[in-house]
Amino acid sequence: MRICYDEGMKNIVICGAGPAGCMAAISAKTHYPLSNVILIDQNEHILKKLRLSGGGRCNVSANVSVQTIIEQTPRNGRFLYASLNEFNSTQIQDFFKSRGCPLVEEDHQRLFPKSHKAIDIAQVIQNELNALNVVMLMNTYVHQIDLQNNTMITSNETLSFDHLILASGGLSYPQTGSDGYLLSEISKHVFVEKCYPAETPLVSNDAIIQSKLLQGVSLKDVSLTLLIDGKKKKQVKHDMLFTHFGFSGPGVLQLSSVCRDCFEKKQSISMIIDCLPYLNHQEVESLIKEQTLSKVLSMHQLPKRLNEAYDVLKENITPTQFLKSWTFNIHDMRGFNQAFVTSGGISVKAIDPATMRLKTYPNVSVCGEMIDVHSHTGGYNITIAMSMGYHAGKHCLD
Ligand SMILES: Cc1cc2nc3c(=O)[nH]c(=O)nc-3n(C[C@H](O)[C@H](O)[C@H](O)COP(=O)(O)OP(=O)(O)OC[C@H]3O[C@@H](n4cnc5c(N)ncnc54)[C@H](O)[C@@H]3O)c2cc1C
Repeated sequence: MRICYDEGMKNIVICGAGPAGCMAAISAKTHYPLSNVILIDQNEHILKKLRLSGGGRCNVSANVSVQTIIEQTPRNGRFLYASLNEFNSTQIQDFFKSRGCPLVEEDHQRLFPKSHKAIDIAQVIQNELNALNVVMLMNTYVHQIDLQNNTMITSNETLSFDHLILASGGLSYPQTGSDGYLLSEISKHVFVEKCYPAETPLVSNDAIIQSKLLQGVSLKDVSLTLLIDGKKKKQVKHDMLFTHFGFSGPGVLQLSSVCRDCFEKKQSISMIIDCLPYLNHQEVESLIKEQTLSKVLSMHQLPKRLNEAYDVLKENITPTQFLKSWTFNIHDMRGFNQAFVTSGGISVKAIDPATMRLKTYPNVSVCGEMIDVHSHTGGYNITIAMSMGYHAGKHCLD
């Protein structure tokens, strides 16, 4: 058994080199320079999921306040106050700018590296880990953790730790390494909330969707309302996309976060699209009396293909209903293979938010998507992962 990397120094071991684990390693070594910080991941390189993020451009944060980040976090957002007060969008922007990788802002306050390359974000983090002499154990799988004896068995060796930081992610995109194994291991010691795909596309078996007539049509800044058993559950104003199976795009992904267990409970779910949210019913009614539907669509920059869809639906729906309250049944949501994040994970009740340590095992901290916290798309999930990681690293040896 390898007891430690440098005799006499404390071992801080971090499992998982995603944004949460990498930032935890940087923060731990910065705050406790006289400790061995060891970062373990089963992948060959750090940040496998982040390299794919934002379509390869990495929407690394959002240029918004702490309050907005919390509002954009539909699950347990308030748990993040302490982390975000220490490390938020401002610190993320400074971190990358001061290391030669400035961020630029796009619509919806989204921040990307100026180079538009996720790999540049990964490179800055890799350089920082190297500069701090963090020990990197790549291609190393963590098989077993013994919390009584502070040891772990990896695919290469047995390691001992003084402090352990778990950052092994949720269940989404398991091909990037977040396979849920350590989440199920830790569930032997702390309560883990059941996991569901979140920020994931929605499936509809309605004939118009199945006909694929609308596939590829996108709508900008429409109002979307999700009803569960006929009751309004969530409303958002954002962009959406019709796909061959249903709906995607940021607005729809946001709605999916409230679906969670609705399908297994056999609740009925529907979604209403309001294509003209800035006009009321009466205004649309008078508009449609004066103009053809096709003219109204072009006046309001709506895609022409909606006209073809209306031709199919016109027996059952008026043009005003079509534009203001076009309703679809939702039959399912896409699974973990397509979900951007996971809803569920280690219960926030098991964690001290001031330090990120487990209440029952104070020499173990947790951070990132493995906790039952997730945000909407738009740069918020990487932001909260880095924020929790920084906070966990800073307070691990308090
Ligand atoms: C396709 C896609 C695009 C996305 N785009 C964005 C975006 O643009 N902006 C945004 O904010 N969010 C985005 N997200 C979400 C964001 O990437 C995640 O929320 C974030 O990566 C979570 O960070 P994490 O460090 O908690 O977990 P992860 O990034 O999942 O990292 C966990 C790490 O732990 C390692 N690990 C797990 N178990 C073990 C084990 N037993 N042994 C060794 N290693 C292990 C894994 O290999 C992995 O590297 C996207 C997600 C997906 C799937």
